[in-house]
Amino acid sequence: ATVIAVLLAYDVKALCLRAACVPGIGLGLLVREYASLSHLDQQYFGFPGEILMRMLKMVILPLIMSSMITGIAALDSEVSGKIGLRAVVYYFSTTIIAVILGIILVVSIKPGVSQTHQNIGSMGTTPNVTTVDTILDLIRNMFPENLVQACFAQYKTKRVELPLPPLVPPDNTTTSSPLTATLMAVVENVTREYKITGSYSEGINVLGLIVFCAVFGLVIGKMGERGRILLDFFDALNEATMRLVQIIMCYMPVGILFLIAAKIIEVEDWAIFGKMGLYMATVLTGLAIHSILILPLIYFIFVRKNPFTLMLQMAQALVTALMISSSSATLPVTFRCAEENAGIDKRITRFVLPVGATINMDGTALYEAVATIFIAQLNNYNLDVGHILTISITATLASIGAAGIPNAGLVTMVMVLTAVGLPANDVTLIVAVDWLLDRCRTMINVLGDAYGAGVVEKLSKRELERMDAASDVDMANP
Ligand code: ASP
Repeated sequence: ATVIAVLLAYDVKALCLRAACVPGIGLGLLVREYASLSHLDQQYFGFPGEILMRMLKMVILPLIMSSMITGIAALDSEVSGKIGLRAVVYYFSTTIIAVILGIILVVSIKPGVSQTHQNIGSMGTTPNVTTVDTILDLIRNMFPENLVQACFAQYKTKRVELPLPPLVPPDNTTTSSPLTATLMAVVENVTREYKITGSYSEGINVLGLIVFCAVFGLVIGKMGERGRILLDFFDALNEATMRLVQIIMCYMPVGILFLIAAKIIEVEDWAIFGKMGLYMATVLTGLAIHSILILPLIYFIFVRKNPFTLMLQMAQALVTALMISSSSATLPVTFRCAEENAGIDKRITRFVLPVGATINMDGTALYEAVATIFIAQLNNYNLDVGHILTISITATLASIGAAGIPNAGLVTMVMVLTAVGLPANDVTLIVAVDWLLDRCRTMINVLGDAYGAGVVEKLSKRELERMDAASDVDMANP
């Protein structure tokens, strides 16, 4: 609440007109107290919030396509390569730092040591996918086989158990003898096999679109005059989409008010927060240190400007991320804040922000590391240095693989758990509080992208100035 209050207090107009989370919490608590809504009524109540989410998601596709294509085509291939490399180095380094911070905190606070599985309870089961499957899916999604399908679905591996071969009992034994039972068990273990069947799940394949648009933009940039018509088209599309975003932002106060109120009404088990208090405190402390100390320090070292000014300029995007738990759906607002409030060069934002929203998730990486070690502690599972190293690497990969949608980190965490031999089903132990942690880590994910854009802009200043000078010469000698 303090963070929200500080962020909103920065701009009183934004406080009154645009963000309605504080009254939303109040409304939620009031309705919860005085009206007992059925599940159906709760859904009706959340309808205005649902519409906001739908509108934000609606503009993701034209926004990503137009910004990536024009962003890359506007740079020459050497400059875009350098900028891309700087962005990727920044993303990796900050993600690894976040993971290490999470590990240090969870190992010192030990939130799971005094608790057991039973104290927390568990629910449901999770799909049986491995680390290799997840990494292969990440690569598969980079190369969508069908561009239209990539606009509304991404590839997900499913493992299907193949039927066991029929067991022929050895002569003179019956199927019910102990020997056959043992044999059957052995055969089951040895021959149990899976087949991978691909399927498409809901949600835009942002990674695939980014890869396509980056290459497409590069090609258009190299086509010279012939490519101009396409470049103008996508440039106009980008401007039109940003105008749409402006309209959507007028509706934001209403949407956010109902989104948050509906969430407050919907929560069934408040007691779980008490049981999981230390675990949540560990994640939140990590996120706070990363966002208030580490990222601002990195920004200051490179950019030499007050990092908290940028944080306040990004306030609206951060509050949106906190409310809707999705970096992709926040992207339109992130663009507006970064370009209009913070004045970051569009050639950088158009390129760096969509990629960041998809692969740069410091908050998610930190959370995955903390949650995995927490689950290990609940299981009294001893982790050695090798395990910790595996967690660092897989948590980083899992955050890269997570889509910028609500609870995506929870799904990719199965890969981190299985990598160190923990039961994948245990991910269900932390589901109950994920809705709260998800929105907090999403806010840090978005903040990391904004600082990244600032750092990359500063590091690329010379190339950008050189391009400006060249275009001035072109204008002077048409
Ligand atoms: N919701 C997060 C995001 O959109 C991803 C996650 O679940 O960690 O950035």
